[in-house]
Parts: sequence; C-alpha cells; structure tokens
Amino acid sequence: MSQQPHATHDDSCIFCKIATGQIPSQRVYEDDELIAFKDIRPAAPVHLLIVPREHIPMLAAAGPQHEGLLGRIMLLAPRLAVENGATNGFRTVFNNGEDGGQEVYHLHLHVMGGPRPWRAMP
Ligand code: AMP
Ligand code: ZN
Repeated sequence: MSQQPHATHDDSCIFCKIATGQIPSQRVYEDDELIAFKDIRPAAPVHLLIVPREHIPMLAAAGPQHEGLLGRIMLLAPRLAVENGATNGFRTVFNNGEDGGQEVYHLHLHVMGGPRPWRAMP
C-alpha cells in the first residue's frame, strides 16, 4: 500500500480545495508545501489541521519520498500550537483509514490543545 502512486491533486477532495482557496478556511499558516487551518468542528479550544498541499490520501499511502515532509509537519505542530494559544500542552493525531476514524482522505495532522475539558473524539 505504501508504494502505490497517487495523484498529487484530487479535484473532488475538500482539503485540496482548501489548499487552492476554492473553499474558504481560517488559515493560520501556509508555505510552499503545507497549509494549516482551524478545524471546522473543534474538539478542543485550539484545534488545527496541518495539511500538505500534495494530495496524499492517508499516512499509510506516504512513502520514503515523504520522509522530509512528514518531519516538517511534526515540527510545525508545537510552533502552531503555541502561536494559537495552546501554551500548556497539546495532542497530535493522524487518523488513518476506516477503523482509525478518518473522514477526509487527504493526509492531515490534528493539533489540539487549550484548557480542558475537551469534546471526545470518535
Ligand atoms: P479526520 O476524521 O481525521 O479525517 O478529520 C477530518 C477533520 O476535518 C474533522 O475534524 C472535521 O471537523 C474537519 N473538517 C472537515 N471539513 C472541514 C472544513 N471545510 N474546514 C475545516 N475543517 C474541516
Ligand atoms: Zn486532497
């Protein structure tokens, strides 16, 4: 599975549309390869999604060529957490596949923080 090719853009994908600006989002970060925006249904006071512009369907579809990209996603998480108010800790989550509870099949890292209690994630 990890070696299967995938299109770098999917016209029917909501996060591809957010990345290109076709669908609005509350963007908190962007660069050449990544965007980050506020989750539309936050599970915590701070709930961000870090999303590569490339349409990678899920973590299990990433390959060795994505090693650097995945590292940059992880390293961006603490910076954006603090910048957006999660100053007392945060949680990172990749949902992968059906049993992983993934709803949007474009790889994204959840970054959640802020004072508890939080809404339970499914
Ligand atoms: P997952 O279950 O990991 O696939 O999570 C997808 C997340 O995307 C959910 O937390 C949704 O609330 C969020 N989401 C879906 N559509 C949008 C949108 N248009 N803007 C921001 N977040 C969204
Ligand atoms: Zn996509």
